[in-house]
Amino acid sequence: MIAAVLPTYNRSKLNFERGEGVRVFTPEGDAYLDFGAGVAVTSCGHSHPHLVAALTEQAQKIWHTSNIYQMPGQEKLAFRLIEKTFADTVFFTNSGAEALECSIKMARKYHAVIGQPERFRIITFEGAFHGRTLATIAAGGQAKYLEGFGPKVEGFDQVPFGDHDALKAAIGPETAGILIEPIQGEGGVRPVPPQCLRGLRELCDANGILLLLDEVQCGIGRTGKLFAHEWAGITPDIMAIAKGIGGGFPLGACLATENAAQGMTAGTHGSTFGGNPLATAVGNAVLDVVLADGFLDNVLQRSLNLKQKLAQLKDSYPAVIEDIRGQGLMMGIKCRVPNTEFQTAALDHKLLTIAAGDNVVRLLPPLVVTDSDIAEAVSKLEMTCRALQAQKAVA
Ligand SMILES: *Cc1c(COP(=O)(O)O)cnc(C)c1O
Repeated sequence: MIAAVLPTYNRSKLNFERGEGVRVFTPEGDAYLDFGAGVAVTSCGHSHPHLVAALTEQAQKIWHTSNIYQMPGQEKLAFRLIEKTFADTVFFTNSGAEALECSIKMARKYHAVIGQPERFRIITFEGAFHGRTLATIAAGGQAKYLEGFGPKVEGFDQVPFGDHDALKAAIGPETAGILIEPIQGEGGVRPVPPQCLRGLRELCDANGILLLLDEVQCGIGRTGKLFAHEWAGITPDIMAIAKGIGGGFPLGACLATENAAQGMTAGTHGSTFGGNPLATAVGNAVLDVVLADGFLDNVLQRSLNLKQKLAQLKDSYPAVIEDIRGQGLMMGIKCRVPNTEFQTAALDHKLLTIAAGDNVVRLLPPLVVTDSDIAEAVSKLEMTCRALQAQKAVA
């Protein structure tokens, strides 16, 4: 008999009933150190008092009105995002995939309204992940997500990650833009080098096409800057965000320049829930935390500590760890054992991690993680490695 909840997830047996900061608790009271943060979502940690207050305060006023009315909280969040980024305008969504859908539609519409509707194709990269809607699985181009879902949505051309010649060759008279994650998340925590992001910006400018960034996972402070592309000193034309901006409340956004957004006039796009008063109250509270003086610097300092400790772990357990990669508090352990085994072994030591492609285990702690949390996580990772190494020796 089919499960009551459509069985599309490989769920663990664990159930968490409460969370506090970097820890989550089972109904039996077992504490787990959460270095997955619900896949980079609980940016401020669990039950952050400021987020709880913002949510409950808004819940007592009004939850939902509809985008057919003025939304002061939404407007405030838009102004704050604009002030801190390249963007001139923001569209709010409930998820990352919807933020990408808006980004893709906007890129196509841009070319349509400037008189070149033939430019509708978007170039993406192998290993990319942009969501699970029909268009975003086409953008991601992964066979395992496309299989059985009918004809792939037209208009996406994929090139190998890091292959400059293939990229240049893929740009044609129908190309509307290039879409890339500054750090591939699901693909295995693969950062795009800053000079490559700069190269992409130049390539887009030279060809009159748009640069679209997917910062759904790497944005909102995860790398120690508000957005990962800031490290490269470039700006996109369009950017999708989600995950961390809601801190656990479903919220995403598509940010854009005025130029790129020029086709998105009244009636061209919409969302019933997108950016409703509850969601944007939380989004504003997340920004209060992340933009507070010293917060991002703290993320950077903690991440350097984590990176150094992971490098030591790799040196100590070369039979288990092949490589450490990533940036900021978005780190990947490339395993020499199956990553799911590593993840399960870490779970035995009550550490939550997230598996990714390329046999990588992701560490994505809440951005409020402390050095003592990191020391605890590394000690759990060390026990994990020791157990896996012993298993390997026996086998
Ligand atoms: C999670 C993710 C998405 C999809 O977000 P959903 O909220 O699951 O729709 C898109 N892009 C990247 C880079 C992501 O990590």
